[in-house]
Amino acid sequence: MALAERTYNFSAGPATIPLKVLEQIQQELLNFNNCGASIMEISHRSAQFIEVLDSARNGIKQLLGIDDSHEVLFLQGGSRLQFSMIPMNLLRSSDDRAAYIVSGTWSGKAYDEALGTGNIDLVWNGKESNYNTLPNEVDLTLPEDPAFLYYASNETIHGVQFQSGLQIDSTPLVCDASSDFLSRPIEMSRHGIVYACAQKNAGPSGVTIVVIRKDLLQRSQDSLPGYLNYKKHVEQNSMFNTPPTFGIYVIDLICKWLLHDMGGLEQVATFNQEKANLLYDVINECQDMFIGHAVKEFRSNMNVTFNLPSDELTAQFVEQATAKGLTSLKGHRSVGGIRASIYNAMPREGVLALRDFMKAFYTQNS
Ligand SMILES: *Cc1c(COP(=O)(O)O)cnc(C)c1O
Repeated sequence: MALAERTYNFSAGPATIPLKVLEQIQQELLNFNNCGASIMEISHRSAQFIEVLDSARNGIKQLLGIDDSHEVLFLQGGSRLQFSMIPMNLLRSSDDRAAYIVSGTWSGKAYDEALGTGNIDLVWNGKESNYNTLPNEVDLTLPEDPAFLYYASNETIHGVQFQSGLQIDSTPLVCDASSDFLSRPIEMSRHGIVYACAQKNAGPSGVTIVVIRKDLLQRSQDSLPGYLNYKKHVEQNSMFNTPPTFGIYVIDLICKWLLHDMGGLEQVATFNQEKANLLYDVINECQDMFIGHAVKEFRSNMNVTFNLPSDELTAQFVEQATAKGLTSLKGHRSVGGIRASIYNAMPREGVLALRDFMKAFYTQNS
């Protein structure tokens, strides 16, 4: 397929993958690393695949700047399975409590799921303002000695993102980083678990990356069903059952792209900030046309959400953008309007094209 036929794809997930990575996949699809078969067709216990698995794990560790403190797991069941695995593993007894911040659809679902698993304290809820803002540390009153504090670093649907890490030392943080994983550095020393389904920012659907601090593994009880037990996955080197081999291979290529082509997460963060600014500048300038959903302080660098004054204008915006090769811009029904997802793999050119389209649309319609 000629390059010109690929659109700038603003899908929230599964989302765009770096072109260079897709080309490498294409190149080695029929014969991976001279083994005479594709990566999908070889044993997960083969030396060739183990090398890929080790490389993906090391790539993530290197990008996050962790060494022996945390384990990296590649699991299935999406982020949704983590909503229940986390409390099932970390809350050991009926005395244990966990604290949850509900800042949008995803942390809301995680909270609902956790309620069935243990003692859960809701320490903040952004529902009243349709999740357009986030708490600061001072807004949070934690229960005494919670097992963990749960939050989502970026709410994919509402487009709100914690801009600086939560400065909380008294309890391990558990972070759903599904839609901003590997988009910027993260303070791993404060985190007990950081997890992300791959299909937003780190690869194809079917794999969930779970980074877990080693001491927390002691909490996983033997009575848990095997697949739901983190300790078993660690003991089996992410091969408790057949792992999603193709997805892990793509994650490995993406980690290499982030390390070698993009220059690591500091640089990636700057790149993403600059891209987001291009769109937020238009939203700031054309406020009567593009009404940003998130309050400025917590605007997401990954999912830019805004509404237009009417449904007709929104429909026209989507239609005209699509005709220009700017696709998947329709917002989630709970926020409406437009959502532009601009993850790591969205090139600056794509964001510039969207920005120019927004400006032209504004001039035409006002
Ligand atoms: C997409 C998403 C999820 C759900 O992921 P699945 O893999 O579909 O289970 C959870 N949390 C966040 C923040 C997401 O963006």
